[in-house]
Amino acid sequence: MSHPPYIGRFAPSPSGPLHFGSLVAALGSYLRARSQAGKWLVRIEDIDPPREVLGSSEDILKTLLAYGLQWDGEVLYQSDRIQAYQTKIEKLLAQDKAYYCQCTRKEIKAMGGTYDGRCGRLAAPLNTGAIRIRNQAGVEHFNDLLMDDVRVDKGFANEDFIIKRSDGLYAYQLAVVMDDAFQQITEVVRGSDLLIPTCRQISLFQQFEQTKPNWLHLPLVCTTPGMKLSKQNHAPAIDKLHPQESFNAALTFLGQAQVQPSEQMSEMVAQAVNEFDLSLIPKQTEIVLA
Ligand code: GLU
Repeated sequence: MSHPPYIGRFAPSPSGPLHFGSLVAALGSYLRARSQAGKWLVRIEDIDPPREVLGSSEDILKTLLAYGLQWDGEVLYQSDRIQAYQTKIEKLLAQDKAYYCQCTRKEIKAMGGTYDGRCGRLAAPLNTGAIRIRNQAGVEHFNDLLMDDVRVDKGFANEDFIIKRSDGLYAYQLAVVMDDAFQQITEVVRGSDLLIPTCRQISLFQQFEQTKPNWLHLPLVCTTPGMKLSKQNHAPAIDKLHPQESFNAALTFLGQAQVQPSEQMSEMVAQAVNEFDLSLIPKQTEIVLA
């Protein structure tokens, strides 16, 4: 049987400029895709306006190009997919595969921290609030291409989780699964901060009867143990004018050989693709920068 062609992606949220941690995710997913002669797509995950920083979508795309990371086709913006998310939500509600919930954080805490599904058992269902999936395909473990067998807590795996928030925003879990399916992604390469939520994403793929991709989670760049470099802790933006140094530092972080510095980033990228070796990436969920 022939394999479908490899389609990978990088899916940044426009909550600030690219920092070294996001460069590692972008470069790792790019090198993996190109070393398989695959496509590499970019999707801007802009469905959380309160967290969005104006101008950062354009800045992220410019930065990728400055690093020689050219994507295939058009960039997909999640904000253009709202209608698809809403249609899906309505269908799930109509089929009783999702339900409204008005439980507060405090109430969930009193349940032991895991939602017990009570709003889904009401004789008279609610018609406002957050919307939860009736989780009928809880996934307790999966095989990650780098981290091997990943296991999550049973309660977490089987929880009816939120797919639309009470403030009207669509949950990341819903959007990411619908879009990975829509873009026919065959392999997701991203940071290990999303290792555990992957179980929820797999359960949605199963409930939506969509073909699942494979997953490969890269080590996270951390400043101290457990503290990832992020836009929230003001990680500095990477240098767009002199990308050579950060490019090689990201290769080193991923366990890869450095490449010959060049004014032409396309040359550095081509060499990195040529030399890319998955078996050299450290099998660690995080690495603390020295
Ligand atoms: N948008 C997410 C982020 O920036 C990544 C989503 C994903 O790769 O699945 O953290």
